Amino acid sequence: MTEAGVTAAQSPVAQTIDLLGDRLTLAILREVFIDHVRRFSQWIDRTGAPPAMLTARLNALVAAGLMERRPQTSGSDRHDYLLTDLGIATWEILASVWAWQREWSPEGLLQPELVHIDCGHRGPPQLMCRHCDRAVDLRDTQLELDPQSLVLAAGSGRRRSTRTPPSVSRADLQFTEVMEAIGDRWSALVTGLALSGVRRFNEFQSALKISPTTLTERLVRLSEVQILTRSDHGNGREYVLTPRGRGMFPIFAFLLSWTQLAHPDALSLGPKLRHRGCGSWLLPALRCRGCDALLERTSVHFEPFPFGTGLPR
Ligand SMILES: [Zn+2]
Ligand SMILES: [Zn+2]
Repeated sequence: MTEAGVTAAQSPVAQTIDLLGDRLTLAILREVFIDHVRRFSQWIDRTGAPPAMLTARLNALVAAGLMERRPQTSGSDRHDYLLTDLGIATWEILASVWAWQREWSPEGLLQPELVHIDCGHRGPPQLMCRHCDRAVDLRDTQLELDPQSLVLAAGSGRRRSTRTPPSVSRADLQFTEVMEAIGDRWSALVTGLALSGVRRFNEFQSALKISPTTLTERLVRLSEVQILTRSDHGNGREYVLTPRGRGMFPIFAFLLSWTQLAHPDALSLGPKLRHRGCGSWLLPALRCRGCDALLERTSVHFEPFPFGTGLPR
């Protein structure tokens, strides 16, 4: 990536959504976490992605510091792609996406199940605060916004439409529903604001400096896919998260904390979550529901769908 590719005007949160709010990128990471995939041909086999698209996504992961290329030992000119520490740190985002899908989406049963190696418990983990060790849910947190960061997030860089996925491959089929909320900057920002308690059209509009047409389109779409629900009050219409929408909170909490990890020098630019229970900034972690232990990447493994790592062929 050139120097000009990263400017101060690009919000860290927007960069995270651009990078990780992508079906194929999540599918690439998924295969690494499940099966330690590291070769181009393995991802082609498992995701069905067109080679040019896979190359672009791997290059983006390398440029953003999540992966590094290493020459294969066989002496060929091919490379392996290995996760860096920053790449490994995405595991909690993936685990939260899978947990949401298993609970709320018909695609869910195809997603890997989290197994805590130490106690053998399988199933979705619980979100907790690393500072005070207490369980956290949406109601215990408060989003503090630097309004400028949202405008920057919305205004720069590329955007994707969730209505026209670039291709239909097996990888695309596995993250369809969650992409409605994180597959595009506007949808992600609207969902994020809704998670922080924003309900009214005018409040969304003034926070995002978004055109009424674009905002209406996203609100309608998020309502169609049952992330938001519309209710009419005496003096106006409100958009409120459904239980399915509220269930996305851990995904957003980890996307935010990962963004801060990826951009340690840009902390003041992003929205931050405060844990009301202890007053600290929320540093989210996952806890085993079986034994209450804090889960680290090395203490869990992901058990794939029984018929292999992809959809039935
Ligand atoms: Zn806390
Ligand atoms: Zn456990």
